[in-house]
Amino acid sequence: MARLPILEVPDPRLRRRSVPVSAVTDELRTLVADMFETMYDAAGIGLAAAQVDRPIRLLVIDLVDGPPDAEGRSTRNPRVFINPEILEPSEETSVYNEGCLSVPDQYAEVARPARIRARWRDLGWVEHEATLDGLLATCLQHEMDHLEGILFIDHLSRLRREMLLKKLAKARAEAAREKAA
Ligand code: ZN
Repeated sequence: MARLPILEVPDPRLRRRSVPVSAVTDELRTLVADMFETMYDAAGIGLAAAQVDRPIRLLVIDLVDGPPDAEGRSTRNPRVFINPEILEPSEETSVYNEGCLSVPDQYAEVARPARIRARWRDLGWVEHEATLDGLLATCLQHEMDHLEGILFIDHLSRLRREMLLKKLAKARAEAAREKAA
């Protein structure tokens, strides 16, 4: 397994539309393993293939990234979504303070449908359909936005987006200064 570089704003490659996956191959399975390693290493809960420069309709999510349980078992719950679709978003919305590995260390509240009926394939190419809510619904919608070249900051007002990007630029400049010192 290998950790992959994560594209960050304003990289134009984040703005591409991802193409459907046609089959699960060994290469795809390796990519999924690498994406989980990359996501866990960055302490994220979701990662789209587009964020690691592979514009295909694939994303991984794990909302549980806790320490091992008393028996030493991993408490992780890795989920793979291939060619995900939203069939029915609820009218009711919920608000989460979202972040994104492509917009490092910046967070903002985003309102999205609270519940979604979704369809996707897993790594065994089995089709699933389920109604999702809570953080999983939010996270899936956030990651699915990546497949369309959309970032969570696009859901903010222009003023809020510019403030957030300014904060990011400042944090990057400080990090560069610390590195140089
Ligand atoms: Zn993201």
